[in-house]
Amino acid sequence: MDFDLFVIGGGSAGVRCARIAAGHGARVGIAEQRFWGGTCVNIGCVPKKFMVYAAEYGGNAQDAQAFGWEVTRGAHHWRTLIDAKDKEIERLNGIYLRLLNQAGAKIFEAKATFIDAHTLDVGGQRVTAETIVVATGGHPIRPEIPGAELGIVSDDAFYLDDMPRRVAIIGGGYIGVEFAGIFAGLGAETHLIYRQPLPLRGFDEDLRLGLAEALKANGVILHRDTIPDSVTRDEDGYAIALSDLSVLNVDLVFFATGRVPNVTGLGLEAAGVQIAANGAIAVDEELRSSVPHIYAIGDVTDRLNLTPVATAEGHAVADTLFGGNERKVSLQNVPTAVFSIPPIGTVGITEAQAPKGAKVFVTKFTPMRHNITGRPRRTLMKLIVDAATDKVLGAHMLGEDAPEIIQGLAVAIIAGATKSDFDRTIGIHPTAAEEFVTLRTQTRIVGDEFPGE
Ligand SMILES: Cc1cc2nc3c(=O)[nH]c(=O)nc-3n(C[C@H](O)[C@H](O)[C@H](O)COP(=O)(O)OP(=O)(O)OC[C@H]3O[C@@H](n4cnc5c(N)ncnc54)[C@H](O)[C@@H]3O)c2cc1C
Repeated sequence: MDFDLFVIGGGSAGVRCARIAAGHGARVGIAEQRFWGGTCVNIGCVPKKFMVYAAEYGGNAQDAQAFGWEVTRGAHHWRTLIDAKDKEIERLNGIYLRLLNQAGAKIFEAKATFIDAHTLDVGGQRVTAETIVVATGGHPIRPEIPGAELGIVSDDAFYLDDMPRRVAIIGGGYIGVEFAGIFAGLGAETHLIYRQPLPLRGFDEDLRLGLAEALKANGVILHRDTIPDSVTRDEDGYAIALSDLSVLNVDLVFFATGRVPNVTGLGLEAAGVQIAANGAIAVDEELRSSVPHIYAIGDVTDRLNLTPVATAEGHAVADTLFGGNERKVSLQNVPTAVFSIPPIGTVGITEAQAPKGAKVFVTKFTPMRHNITGRPRRTLMKLIVDAATDKVLGAHMLGEDAPEIIQGLAVAIIAGATKSDFDRTIGIHPTAAEEFVTLRTQTRIVGDEFPGE
């Protein structure tokens, strides 16, 4: 065999797996067909967050006036943002490649496909490996409606030539609400169209309500319980026929309508790898596919599609196979963020998932600096506590710095912290985070009627 391990895909999951395995002394090959670092670095988390920063600076400039600064908001130059973002990403691509080289992995800048269970075609070259890891990620999809091809998906949003004047984002998942914040913050007339009563299905209901309020406060026009029926081009841009029978005219249609795993054209059938009903590679707890020496990690397994999960899986497989350290990745209590404006941080269970009788603590307040700026912005914090054990089962926050704060709380929750542990922790003053350790008044118990909108 040419290699002990061959990794298909140089994204978050694949690069980590290849790098760690090579570090353990394995003979490793890795193929990437498009860009090192994959989705996260090139068309996901990283450029998205740069754009969120850009969107927030306008408001910050305006806020500064309330603190005595003589600044005006001025115009935003899209090209400057995109050039700065591209330059930084080029730097990151280089770092990924260097790390792989330094670890001693053999690099293939090509597409890899299975010929049989131990043989791959990598850019026309045949290679064989004892173990193969599939880390091919996923891609965005459009809905099946007439004119869907006229709209863009998130992959394209990072390379637009100009900022749209009017944009319609279809889909109220995390990518939809994040781009709504970006475009509204940069000054576009922004519509968010989603089929549910509230955006962010699956998140805690209080967060969803709070986010809908925040989006409105930022000027995003919400179209709840609505789906698009068709998109057509007209002399004034695009016309979207909506399910409420209205027609919306915009310059850009952005479909944030879901992602699917990259499994087609990989030759998985030649290797005997089975695909689950949801289109993902089915894996067991050790991330083995139906063929024991072929593993799948990251988004191609479509379980919890987050970069830190993908890297943790890549690392665990490499340690287990070549590091003499058998490990599994737990998908319980994985903290996550939504980089809406303001952002969300969340860990543990939602109120809807909590056992009946669990205690719910909620607080809402105006962040300190906005008492001076007057900007209509609210922070929401919430704890869900098990009535029998006093353990904190869930912590949720919508507000400035929420992802930073929740990352810390996630450690406490994974360690099994109780509400009394939170209560005996002294706060840091004056911060928003201290509210998490001073929540004394119970708001309701799970099973009581949810206050709603
Ligand atoms: C807009 C957006 C924003 C996001 N924001 C966040 C965030 O804030 N936080 C977070 O944690 N996650 C975020 N994510 C999710 C995160 O990007 C993914 O979970 C992560 O990139 C998954 O890593 P992966 O290695 O499994 O797949 P990918 O990063 O997609 O990497 C797969 C790689 O495989 C390559 N490939 C595919 N097929 C082949 C083949 N046959 N041969 C060779 N190469 C191949 C692809 O070119 C790609 O580079 C975001 C995603 C998107 C789209």
